[in-house]
Amino acid sequence: MTDWARKIRDGDARLLARAATAVENRDPRGAELLRDLAPFAGHARIVGITGPPGAGKSTLVDGLALALRQQGKTVAILAVDPSSRATGGAILGDRIRMQQHHADAGIFIRSMATRGSLGGLARATRDLARLMDGAGRDYVLIETVGVGQDEVAIAGLAQVTVVVLVPGMGDDVQAIKAGIMEIADVFAINKADQAGADRVERELQAMLSLSGGIAPAIVRTIATAGAGIAELLAAIDRAFEKPAVRRTVAPSLDHLGIAVRALDPAIAFYQALGLTVEHRESIAAEKVNVAMLPAGDSRIELLEPSTPDSPIAKFLEKRGPGLHHVALRVPDLNAAVERLAAAGARLLNAPREGAAGHTYVFVHPASAGGVLLELIQSEDWH
Ligand code: ZN
Repeated sequence: MTDWARKIRDGDARLLARAATAVENRDPRGAELLRDLAPFAGHARIVGITGPPGAGKSTLVDGLALALRQQGKTVAILAVDPSSRATGGAILGDRIRMQQHHADAGIFIRSMATRGSLGGLARATRDLARLMDGAGRDYVLIETVGVGQDEVAIAGLAQVTVVVLVPGMGDDVQAIKAGIMEIADVFAINKADQAGADRVERELQAMLSLSGGIAPAIVRTIATAGAGIAELLAAIDRAFEKPAVRRTVAPSLDHLGIAVRALDPAIAFYQALGLTVEHRESIAAEKVNVAMLPAGDSRIELLEPSTPDSPIAKFLEKRGPGLHHVALRVPDLNAAVERLAAAGARLLNAPREGAAGHTYVFVHPASAGGVLLELIQSEDWH
């Protein structure tokens, strides 16, 4: 373990802030740190808090953080605003919040605005949550602004999600998108002292009675007065005690593997396009040299044979340079393998661990529409 990782484990808040910046910027030292801290992951409770703008989420999150601090728990707040740029309001509000909690090293706050793609933002949020988990924070609160698909994707990184509603939201509950209703483990009706709180709760209950399944808790809060915060925290903690209901998450594109005769000219081409090499390594067991270049939430994987008898050398001989495989990240690799095997797909290996610690399986092109398919277990820090 590096000195950096050790100091962060010892609770050095200043180093943690620097580490968060390295992770956000995809600095190689950040990636190294995440690997060092990975053995400690799985401790934190990751809570998503989402809801429409103006629902008072920030005040609610601050209230939760203070209540947790009174219990002696450490907290990280990741405030994510997919709609705003780095120069926008999110950062300004964040500065005020940071000053408020400045004296308390037990509360870490980082706010993130869109910097290009949503995929990049979701990845940065996930990596920061893993960092905070590995650093030993007891709770990671991921606050997202808005009610669109983007926010659902980010809130979906959490283990327990709180959806915040307020009275007078136009058509009230109907105004909230279906997707966000589905991810809720707890509903907070904030500004519950305002007219219309009863109506919101009635609509919510009517809607939940139709949906079946485990009914999420409904808690009334007045964040500005600190009312209902203890009850909300208790409801969140109860949601963690429920048997884990694994949500089915659709597979996503992890990378495209491209076989090339030589890495350097291929890298030069993609660099000219504006991509950068995140990672280069030689995998002796597979007789291949690899360069990974992130592209949004996916990556391009360039593969160069390292020996004449490498499988990539054989591929080049037969087919010439080109697309070698497509890699999908799946939420539950074993379940996917079982389903595919039952459907008669040709799997080329049992799930095994690759060089970067990923578990993966290859599916024969004959079963996958003519392309070699790699399935990777989604990184899981829950
Ligand atoms: Zn691959």
